[in-house]
Amino acid sequence: MQLDAVARVLQARKEPAYRLAQVKRAFFVDFAESWDQVTTFSKALREACAAEVAWNTLTPVKTQEATKGDTVKTLFACEDGKKIEAVLMRHEDERNTVCVSSQVGCPMACSFCATGTMGLTRNLSAQEIVEQVIYFARWLKAKGERVTNVVLMGMGEPFHNFENVMKALRTLNDPDGFNLGARHMSVSTCGIVPGILKFADEDMQVNLAISLHSAIQDERSSIMPVNKAYPLSKLMDAVRTYMRKTNRRVMFEYLLLKGINDREEDAQALAALFDGDVRLVHVNVIKYHETEAFQGTGKEQRLWFVERLRQLGVPATHRVTFGEDIDAACGQLAVQEDGENIKQGREAVRASKGA
Ligand code: SF4
Repeated sequence: MQLDAVARVLQARKEPAYRLAQVKRAFFVDFAESWDQVTTFSKALREACAAEVAWNTLTPVKTQEATKGDTVKTLFACEDGKKIEAVLMRHEDERNTVCVSSQVGCPMACSFCATGTMGLTRNLSAQEIVEQVIYFARWLKAKGERVTNVVLMGMGEPFHNFENVMKALRTLNDPDGFNLGARHMSVSTCGIVPGILKFADEDMQVNLAISLHSAIQDERSSIMPVNKAYPLSKLMDAVRTYMRKTNRRVMFEYLLLKGINDREEDAQALAALFDGDVRLVHVNVIKYHETEAFQGTGKEQRLWFVERLRQLGVPATHRVTFGEDIDAACGQLAVQEDGENIKQGREAVRASKGA
C-alpha cells in the first residue's frame, strides 16, 4: 500500500483529509485484505482508488508451516517478480515474532548463510518491508492473535538499505497506524560500522543485534568477508559508541559451527572481546542447521559453550530455534528465480565464483 499515491488520488478527487486516515486504519489496524474491505468508502471511491493504487505490492506465492506448528514461512513475489521470504515464529509465551527481509538476496556472502549465496539483486522498499509484517498480522488476526515483535534478520543486510529500513520501522511504530513499540523491534547487522554509528544517532529505541559468530579476527574473516572491511576492533569501537550514546543492550548472535567457533579458545576470545564490560551485552548462542559446507555443533557442546561463557562472566542464552524442517531457520532463507529454496551454503558460493 503506497499511502503517498493514495493521498494523490484522494486529493485529485477533492476528498476530505480524513479519507486518508480511513485508509490507513483499514490497512494497519483492521488489516483489510483489499480495497473491497474499506467499507468506510463508497463503492465508487473504492473502485477509483483500486484503479490507481494496488492494495498490496507483495503477492504470497507459497506458505509452509513447520510440523510443530510454531513456524510459518511465506515466499512472496514483488511487483517486479523478485522473490523474498519472511518467517513467523510463534513462541510458547505467546509472542509472535515476524522475521522480515530487507533486500532481495544479500551482498555480504557469509559462508554459512544460504542468502549469502544469492548475491544482491536489489534493496526492498520501505513498503515491501512493512507488507511482510502486515501479511502475518492478517494471518494471525484470523486466529485472534497479533504480531508482537519484528526482527530484521531475514534476507539481506539492513544497514545497506538504511533509509528504507528506518522508514519501515517508523511506519510500524506509528501510533496512528500499526503502533508496534520500538522496543519490540530489532535490527541485525553483520557488522557494518557506519550503519551502527548512524543507528546510534536515530531517535527510535529499536534494538540492535550483531551477527558475530566468532571473536577471533582471522576465523571471523574466513566465514564473514565483512570482517576484512570492518575488523573486530573497529566493530567493537562502534558498538561501544552505540552503547554509550543509547545506553541500550546489544545482542550478539552466535551460530555454533562444529569445530570452527565452538571451542574453549572461542569462548575465551568472546569473553576477551568484551574486556570485562558486559553490562549491556548479551550473547545468543544458536543452533546451526547443517549445510553441505558446515556442520552444526551438537546440543551437549552448545550447552557447554553457553555455560562456559557464563563462567567467563558473559551473559549468554541458548536460543530456541524455529522452522528447521521448512528451511526457515537462521541462515536458511534463500530463493531461486523459480521460487525454490536453496541452502547449499559455501559450496554454492564457490561454484558461483568458479572455484
Ligand atoms: S548472514 Fe546476513 S549478512 Fe550474512 S549473507 Fe546472510 S543475510 Fe547476508
